[in-house]
Amino acid sequence: MASFVLHLPAATAATSRWRSFSVSATASSNGAVPGRSQSVGQGKGGPVVVELPLDKIRRPLMRTRANDPVKVKDLMDSIQEIGLQVPIDVLEVDGVYYGFSGCHRYEAHQRLGLPKIRCKVRKATKETLRHHLR
Ligand code: ADP
Repeated sequence: MASFVLHLPAATAATSRWRSFSVSATASSNGAVPGRSQSVGQGKGGPVVVELPLDKIRRPLMRTRANDPVKVKDLMDSIQEIGLQVPIDVLEVDGVYYGFSGCHRYEAHQRLGLPKIRCKVRKATKETLRHHLR
């Protein structure tokens, strides 16, 4: 094993204060760095990936489409084990979030009791929203 000896001038050694530096890196269960959103084209009006509270996402088609319960259960197991790997797509219209897809992932989060879900948010116009609602 190699060893290193650090020689300091006596005056410096006597008067200097030890500084300690610590470097730490943590990652959330889904591999993302906590507290930071992964952004795609941020600042250029492109989509951004952020975590949103489930109850902040309006899902106008929720009652009209039934999810496959087996898929939801498989996703619950997988999300618990490795985290959400692909964010759901969300539209932001005048500060309000709308989700039309990612229904199984959304339900899996709900059933796991997770408060937030990773979303790929794209700004859209009311016209685009109307198109989705047709
Ligand atoms: P959804 O209605 O949410 O789109 P699908 O069953 O059609 O449900 O597709 C599941 C999606 O979830 C796939 O695109 C898959 O890549 C994605 N996904 C994200 N995270 C996971 C995960 N941890 N395990 C399995 N699939 C995942």
